[in-house]
Amino acid sequence: MATEITDSLGRPLRDLRISVTDRCNFRCTYCMPKEVFGKDFHFLPPSELLTFEEIARLARLFVENGVEKIRLTGGEPLLRRELETLVAMLARLPGVRDLTITTNGSLLAKKARALRAAGLHRVTVSLDSLDDRVFRSMNDVDFPVERVLEGIDAALEAGLRPVKVNVVVKRGINDHTLVDIARRFRGTGCIVRFIEYMDVGTTNGWRLADVVPAAEVVRMISAELPLVPIERHYPGEVASRYRYADGGGEIGVIASVTQPFCRDCSRARLSSDGMLYTCLFSAGGHDFRTLLRLGKSDAEIARCLRDIWRIRSDRYSEIRTAETRKLPKVEMSHIGG
Ligand code: SAM
Ligand code: SF4
Ligand code: SF4
Repeated sequence: MATEITDSLGRPLRDLRISVTDRCNFRCTYCMPKEVFGKDFHFLPPSELLTFEEIARLARLFVENGVEKIRLTGGEPLLRRELETLVAMLARLPGVRDLTITTNGSLLAKKARALRAAGLHRVTVSLDSLDDRVFRSMNDVDFPVERVLEGIDAALEAGLRPVKVNVVVKRGINDHTLVDIARRFRGTGCIVRFIEYMDVGTTNGWRLADVVPAAEVVRMISAELPLVPIERHYPGEVASRYRYADGGGEIGVIASVTQPFCRDCSRARLSSDGMLYTCLFSAGGHDFRTLLRLGKSDAEIARCLRDIWRIRSDRYSEIRTAETRKLPKVEMSHIGG
């Protein structure tokens, strides 16, 4: 039986997002702009990445302290070699109700079956537009929509259901293509989630004017495909859910900027070099890799994570101001989305 721990605002620890690499084969302009993440950018050397054994050991300690959901992310998680081996190690942990991956889908067609066989439950695929020209310019490496769609099909065939499709919405860039994407995935077993563009990190040149409020997205889609709001599955669910009035499935919107949900935030994030972050907008993390490599016992590491969680008071999105926006923050590709 897991121990329940709560932070200084009474929020339990339920969710662990594990970044398995800081590298990516895309250069999405809102996440890893080419001008910053160019040829000279220093990614972590392999010796600084947590090994699968180290990740699985930490994950077990988190699960013993209340975590029920584990998401692998990055960077692009499918770039990490033999990721299915890690998935199998995590799938064996008793108490994990939900084991998922967030991926850009570029390698999913090749990997979906092996991931499913290793015990992965579901997958979230990021796809910002079905308009090939818009998508290629957003991923900024000229990657075609078609190959991501092949990845989604492979995931559905492999039984990684429901597939969630993440769409980051940027004003004037892809907001004219949202109804298309909603229409395309209606009734397919995929749930599209429209995400407000966030001021994560310091390199993407974020401006409030580029954010399309989730309420506007709902209005836009509902005008063509009528929507009805539905209840959240559980407290702490980040997406507000809507179903199609005619029964064609559901969509979600993630309004992290206009309707922040910090009061229910139960997520911890572990970067690929073993730093624990208690908020997506943290300036710094807690170094668990050193604890592991110094040979600390399970009890010592677990005590450390409990102490960190108990004093947690993060609520960046609720208190976002022009001033807090200037504070140092880690990059999304490092901390894991
Ligand atoms: N590479 C994988 C992918 O793209 O799915 C996993 C890592 S990515 C950092 C995780 C999620 O964060 C993706 O759905 C991505 O679209 C989202 N994301 C990245 N930067 C963002 C931003 N500035 N605002 C909102 N979402 C963002
Ligand atoms: Fe890579 Fe994902 Fe960031 Fe795009 S959002 S650059 S795919 S890590
Ligand atoms: Fe959680 Fe931080 Fe995001 Fe608030 S801003 S929802 S505390 S990760």
